[in-house]
Amino acid sequence: MNIDKLRLILESSPKFRIKQTNKLLYQDLISSWQEASVLPKDLRSKLEKECPLDISAESLTLKDGSVKTVISLNDNKKVEAVLIKNSDKRNTVCVSSQIGCALACKFCATGQMGFIRNLSANEIVEQVLYFARELKQKNEKIDNIVFMGMGEPFLNIDNVFRAIEILNSEDKFNIGARKISISTVGLKKGIERLIKSKLQVNLAISLHATNDQLRSHLMPVNKKQNIKELLEFVDSYIVSTGRQVMFEYLMIKDVNDSLEEAKELAKLLEGKLAVVNLIRYNDSGVFKSSPDKHIYNFKKVLEKNGIKTTIRDSFGSEGKAACDQLANKG
Ligand code: SF4
Repeated sequence: MNIDKLRLILESSPKFRIKQTNKLLYQDLISSWQEASVLPKDLRSKLEKECPLDISAESLTLKDGSVKTVISLNDNKKVEAVLIKNSDKRNTVCVSSQIGCALACKFCATGQMGFIRNLSANEIVEQVLYFARELKQKNEKIDNIVFMGMGEPFLNIDNVFRAIEILNSEDKFNIGARKISISTVGLKKGIERLIKSKLQVNLAISLHATNDQLRSHLMPVNKKQNIKELLEFVDSYIVSTGRQVMFEYLMIKDVNDSLEEAKELAKLLEGKLAVVNLIRYNDSGVFKSSPDKHIYNFKKVLEKNGIKTTIRDSFGSEGKAACDQLANKG
């Protein structure tokens, strides 16, 4: 797909054309301009030639109903996105914001690739568009979008916010901001931008450790911005927006999952408008997932200490489609 030139081509067209093409693209979900019978024939041909809409992708449907998709971009780089089938039948699309990632978290396959490049706003939206078209054929739609795929969204901040504008805009995708979540290591400039934007998107912070020594080991970015600073930024987000923050905590066997650490986590988050999401880790060569029983005990300790806690299903582990395992060699 290549819609970067769309605005340029429509520059001299009457204004209603832009509205019309937005509806065709993002709401009617056409996959070829030839389907756009409301447009003049010569414009259709021009758009077909200069802004093709077909998305080159390969998908793998997993046993749990999740669909892992690899989309080929115009420079032949590849990006991964996942359609997660929630147990209540809701459809959540997990999108990538970068190819590779510079932050090199130890538990993350994307982090091991290094950074390749940022995705443009249209390349981010293309991932959503792909699944929206697929779901339309089954009379289904996308319910939620999470920026939880490859890359750190706040290191590609302009394109991520531009993509959110397209996804949220009434004239375009029209997906409610509250149905969009950004998962981040918690970079200050991103949190500040989110506060300023007044967007009602959800903020999820990847915490994964309760002390700086371990977090810096697992997530080297912690050496530049420690847990105390991170929690101060989160506090200012909560005060400014009145919105709850989700703290994600990967449960890694014998690394960060002791009941002592559950108590420390409860202490760190005491009094915050926050919820903890415990995530089952999908075994990699180095790390193993905590046993289920242990995850439940960890949750019990948090709840006993007044912290709202959920456990996230382990989506797509069979096909390496889980959040920490997206890593094609694009
Ligand atoms: S977990 Fe996120 S921030 Fe860390 S390396 Fe992976 S993609 Fe980057």
